[in-house]
Amino acid sequence: MPVYEYNCRACGRRVRLFMSFAEYDRAAPTCPHCGSAELKRRVGRVALGRPEGERLDRMMDGGAFDGLDEDPRAMGRFMREMSQEMGEDMGDEFDEVAGRLAAGESPESIEQSMPEMGAGE
Ligand SMILES: [Zn+2]
Repeated sequence: MPVYEYNCRACGRRVRLFMSFAEYDRAAPTCPHCGSAELKRRVGRVALGRPEGERLDRMMDGGAFDGLDEDPRAMGRFMREMSQEMGEDMGDEFDEVAGRLAAGESPESIEQSMPEMGAGE
């Protein structure tokens, strides 16, 4: 099951939510610490966008995400592969994040330099 990471704007804590994609479509996620709905999505798995298609589901069911949190380079490569797999232009932001991860930069560092990431959705 995919992990969605957020920062809570109300209490400032990191929030990790486990949801299926179907649940994510319907959900209005709230902070488990303070109940606020003011959650800002974090860089990481969530930056992969909203995957579509059976092939992608199989990639995830097959554990394609395992260990990526601990290895930014693998994460960056995976993001690029997924983008190609989907045959879509994921946007400049996605490309930049994937490239910086592949270069070994930490997700936290990237997020700090891109404060608006994920805010426009
Ligand atoms: Zn909170």
